[in-house]
Amino acid sequence: MKTIGLLGGMSWESTVTYYRIINEAVRARLGGLHSAKCVLYSVDFAEIEALQREGRWEEAAGCLVAAGQGLQRAGAEVVVLCTNTMHKLAETIQAGVRVPFLHIADATAQQIERAGIRRVGLLGTRFTMEEDFFRGRLARHSHLEVMVPVPSDREEVHRIIYEELCVGTIRRESRAGISRIMVQLAEQGAGGIILGCTELGLLVGDDDSPVPLFDTTRIHALAAVAFALNPQPVAVADREGPPRKDANGRD
Ligand code: GLU
Repeated sequence: MKTIGLLGGMSWESTVTYYRIINEAVRARLGGLHSAKCVLYSVDFAEIEALQREGRWEEAAGCLVAAGQGLQRAGAEVVVLCTNTMHKLAETIQAGVRVPFLHIADATAQQIERAGIRRVGLLGTRFTMEEDFFRGRLARHSHLEVMVPVPSDREEVHRIIYEELCVGTIRRESRAGISRIMVQLAEQGAGGIILGCTELGLLVGDDDSPVPLFDTTRIHALAAVAFALNPQPVAVADREGPPRKDANGRD
């Protein structure tokens, strides 16, 4: 079994979920007292959030590259960045370490493709919903059509993530709000919804959505276990151009 390096703390509320899912999956696969070999670098999210808000992405990249290198020194054989938003910096982090980097969008796209869905709704932070690093990767590599909520709803999802979920607050009203947004996306033609923020699965589940949910936390954590137990080639940093192999070595 390979050692998984978790680059977490963004927020720690969802890193806990990664740790639990990874260990449960290893036990399910290997049985008995087996558990995952992993190392965790958990940042102070207040520092990272300030850099995000102020648009100081190069400094954030510096912090995360240093953390990735720390994981590598501690024995990590693969890096798993436990946040969708900071995949904005995926190429820089990947370039800063020697071990493979499991991209959250690639693992998610594979699951959506397997489900035979082409049009998906995406919920996440404003960065994830509005910028190209996640949506573009899905569109380029998997030709998925990605829909996002209207601006006022994007604002609300973003607020719920930072003001509630990242500080451990779960509110019924917020669950209803996210559910309403998912219903709207489904009515507009989404065949599935990506929970593209690692905390969203703490608030909503299958019962809150009329179409299948793709929870990036669960998908990414299980991809890490699949890699640890049966290492496969992993796509290198994203670039414009022809699709390359995904985490399972498929074209
Ligand atoms: N965990 C969140 C995500 O998956 C948001 C926190 C962050 O900005 O990293 O995007």
